[in-house]
Amino acid sequence: VLLVEDLRVAFGRTEVVKGVSFRLDAGKTLALVGESGSGKSVTALSIMRLLPERARVTGAIRLGETDMLALSGEALRKARGKKAGMIFQEPMTSLNPVLRVGEQVAEALHYHTDLSKSAARAEVLRLFERVRIPDAARRYDEYPHTFSGGMRQRVMIAMALACKPRLLIADEPTTALDVTIQAEILDLLAELQRETGTAVLFITHDMGVVAEIADDVLVMRHGDILEQGPVRKIFSAPAHDYTRDLLAAVP
Ligand code: ATP
Ligand code: MG
Repeated sequence: VLLVEDLRVAFGRTEVVKGVSFRLDAGKTLALVGESGSGKSVTALSIMRLLPERARVTGAIRLGETDMLALSGEALRKARGKKAGMIFQEPMTSLNPVLRVGEQVAEALHYHTDLSKSAARAEVLRLFERVRIPDAARRYDEYPHTFSGGMRQRVMIAMALACKPRLLIADEPTTALDVTIQAEILDLLAELQRETGTAVLFITHDMGVVAEIADDVLVMRHGDILEQGPVRKIFSAPAHDYTRDLLAAVP
């Protein structure tokens, strides 16, 4: 599904991603771990082409048949919805506080596809039920502040999955949530992944979460790959002290 080759990203003279390569197959989960500032989010944003213009991005990013770095305009807009969806740490910042929640998801769907407004509403209600937002028809017309953090993240997952993307990128999606809600969101993601075969790129600091959900793990530091491989292998025989430290933090 996703092939990243020798990805490099620089802001001005500072290179913040220094030659990252990995592949991610359908139905699989790759965890991207590493300390703050190691280049995880920049890597994810490169795939979605969400970095500012002044970022210098080189290498190759193939999503299915599509060369993501070559896209622009309408083709990029469609590809972002259809090929990949993304969810972030703080779901509130992604929702407009003065627009009804259902309308925002319908708008996103309308933006990425050719669905009419009324067809979009029906589809959004279906999506809300799939991500188990209780009482979906009523919640559709409510404003974001009436949703709890976990419910807002469910809305964001619904939005990310609206166009049935082949890849879901989750940038610390549960960090801002308390532990039980965190577990519910992880369960939901796993269930949706089983149903749809979506590939998941999951960014986290938490090796406990990695053990639970990922097939492969890639450890980054200062923009470089420290090590990568199957979770079982990295957990049983980490090659770097840094990875050992991360693992030591798992209860
Ligand atoms: P965290 O765990 O804190 O989210 P991260 O691994 O996601 O960290 P990135 O956000 O990818 O880290 O940042 C990598 C480096 O790139 C940092 O040094 C950051 O300051 C720099 N950086 C990120 N975005 C920009 C930007 N828009 N302009 C300039 N520098 C940036
Ligand atoms: Mg980040």
